[in-house]
Amino acid sequence: MNDIEEIKALLDYPHNTVIITHRNPDGDAIGSSLGLKHFLETFNHNVKLILPSEYPPVFRFLKKVDDSIVFDLVPDVCEEAIKNASLIFCLDFNSLDRITKIAPFISEAKGKKCLIDHHLDPEPFADFVFSDPTASSTAELVYQFIADTGYENKLTVDMGEALFVGLITDTGSFKYSTNPRTYATAAKLKEVGVDDYYIQDKIFNSMQKKQLELLGHCLANRMEIIPEFNAGIIYLTKQDYADFEISRGDTEGIVNHILMIEGINIAAFITEQPTIVKLSLRSKGDISVQEMARNHFNGGGHKNASGGAAYAKLEDVIDRFKKVLPKYVKHV
Ligand code: 5GP
Ligand code: MN
Repeated sequence: MNDIEEIKALLDYPHNTVIITHRNPDGDAIGSSLGLKHFLETFNHNVKLILPSEYPPVFRFLKKVDDSIVFDLVPDVCEEAIKNASLIFCLDFNSLDRITKIAPFISEAKGKKCLIDHHLDPEPFADFVFSDPTASSTAELVYQFIADTGYENKLTVDMGEALFVGLITDTGSFKYSTNPRTYATAAKLKEVGVDDYYIQDKIFNSMQKKQLELLGHCLANRMEIIPEFNAGIIYLTKQDYADFEISRGDTEGIVNHILMIEGINIAAFITEQPTIVKLSLRSKGDISVQEMARNHFNGGGHKNASGGAAYAKLEDVIDRFKKVLPKYVKHV
């Protein structure tokens, strides 16, 4: 019996099921997880969506997102749910360090684990693995998973809206990481009744004034271009976080602006957090920021979009990025 048949057999009887996604969940983490939750609930599974940390308010409009349980807020409730689960879906992450403090509970959990993910180099911690780094998003893979089970006819608008959020956030509204299946999936979701413009509007035209002001600050005062390596950096200090009252999700997408400059092929958004310095890396074409993140910043992700972190001073992390840059970008 192959994986999909075995999972399909598990679907037929209601299970205590947990879906878990990565810390600081983005649109694909939330969208793919909620899409799967809605799907599993049509089989009367008792589905708990666990988030290691809170989700950005932009996703509040999605149905049932407020049923999710946040480990940072109620660790005991999450631990109990994981212990009681006979089926555990791990979505949109490839290594247990992406779920931080929940990792030991997942490692020790008795339930069957199923990974659905599109990041490079997945760690072998799951019983079933649906990993495809050529997929645009985990949402695309959840759609494929649903189709592979033969239950495409169970798709609803609620499922579709959630999955559509994953598709458009991980592809920048179909600008990058797409493949023919991405568009086929979008077409299917639209057929089911998803109002694509409504979702695009909810996601991309929903900034607070302070977020645009923060973007202005980043572009005017915190951007450095390194022309000899076609590179750009934007950094934010702890003080910036206080001055602009930055909260989770407010910095989403800032890094992409650097790549809008003609000739720039690699971009870093480097932020000073309370205990660590976080990096968001983006590149074009053959430059692999995944290798850079993995080799120097204890991170990973995709070839052209990765992230990482360092326990070091902000200035030192910026210096480290500049120092390793020549290894990944040809001098021009
Ligand atoms: P972002 O820059 O938007 O936070 O993340 C870009 C991509 O890199 C995402 O696919 C995300 O999962 C991955 N990523 C971000 N931060 C980390 C990290 O600290 N470790 C690993 N392994 N991947 C990360
Ligand atoms: Mn993703």
